[in-house]
Amino acid sequence: MTPEINTARLLNSFMELCAIDAEPTKERAMADRLTTLLTELGVTVTEDDTGSRLGGNAGNLYATLPGSGPGETLLFSCHMDRVVPGCGVKPQLAGEYIVSDGSTVLGADDVAGLAAVLEGITAVREQGLPHPPLELLFSVAEELSLQGIEQFDASRIVSRCGFVLDAGGPVGEIVVKAPEQVRLSAVIHGRAAHAGIAPQEGISAIQIAATAIAGMKLLRIDDETTANIGSIRADGPTNIVPDHCELSAEARSTDPARLAMQVASMRQALEDAAQSAGGRVEISVRSNYRSYRLDPASEPVRRAGEAARRLGLNVRHRSTGGGSDANFFNEWGIPTAVLCCGFEKVHTCQERIAVAELTRLAQWVAAILTGAGE
Ligand SMILES: [Zn+2]
Repeated sequence: MTPEINTARLLNSFMELCAIDAEPTKERAMADRLTTLLTELGVTVTEDDTGSRLGGNAGNLYATLPGSGPGETLLFSCHMDRVVPGCGVKPQLAGEYIVSDGSTVLGADDVAGLAAVLEGITAVREQGLPHPPLELLFSVAEELSLQGIEQFDASRIVSRCGFVLDAGGPVGEIVVKAPEQVRLSAVIHGRAAHAGIAPQEGISAIQIAATAIAGMKLLRIDDETTANIGSIRADGPTNIVPDHCELSAEARSTDPARLAMQVASMRQALEDAAQSAGGRVEISVRSNYRSYRLDPASEPVRRAGEAARRLGLNVRHRSTGGGSDANFFNEWGIPTAVLCCGFEKVHTCQERIAVAELTRLAQWVAAILTGAGE
């Protein structure tokens, strides 16, 4: 049987959580409120020391709930932070949607997940329906390339089946493939000279960067691979040939071989440009998170699909170009699918979610909980 969702209560907690300030590394108020809500549910909550490690004011919240029925432990995870501008959010109804007042993001990414998990659990317990043991993990600093979850002690997780509620797209769709992200940072060294009297004695670090970038293949590389320059920093007077320029870029792919090729070609473009101008470049490359690909028969994909079909939702397996905490869970050997949450235009001040989608998301959580013994 499918549990009933209390839509009014769900909407209330969604609005309340959206209105709490929670920009990355400043999740204190959100963590406190969620701790209170979980404690009221009878859940034991602990907070790790990720806040102090990242220079933030809150850590990842980890909670366990004993099961009231058979089945293996399930992990549900969402992130507490949201992108900037994410403070002073005034969530409001606009027709069938919930929106912000247009001066901030809404924060549905990822409050929709948080509110749906809380309501799903509350509804199932209220109706006395059996559910398996649960682990909840609410992360910080997800929007900073997953730095929060990266700090979490993976050995604490006992689940072998996880769900991350954190993707756009219609509720019912399941993300089964996501890319690895590599960050490439470069410091270019040229030689300073007077730009008017002896420019021929200088080597322009800005020119080296420009030549390198012009020689790079960027943006959409192929159907699995992307690359982008995020920033170029050089700040000097016009009468000095610049001897310093910094550049940061990223590349992503769901295919490790293609990613390696893309990163190598970006590196080569920088080295070639520096060499031919007589300058030099220091390059550092870091993999922020690894890619994953889930089998349709894997536990989370199968369970999420079954639950969605019981609700009459359109089930579709899809890939994403974005990372989520699921990249880490999968890397840690916990097969984890990302559930699409119905939020739209995320990371913009036009972010919105339909009330009907939010409701379906909570129903989906409840259906997964109560379907787990199948
Ligand atoms: Zn998100």
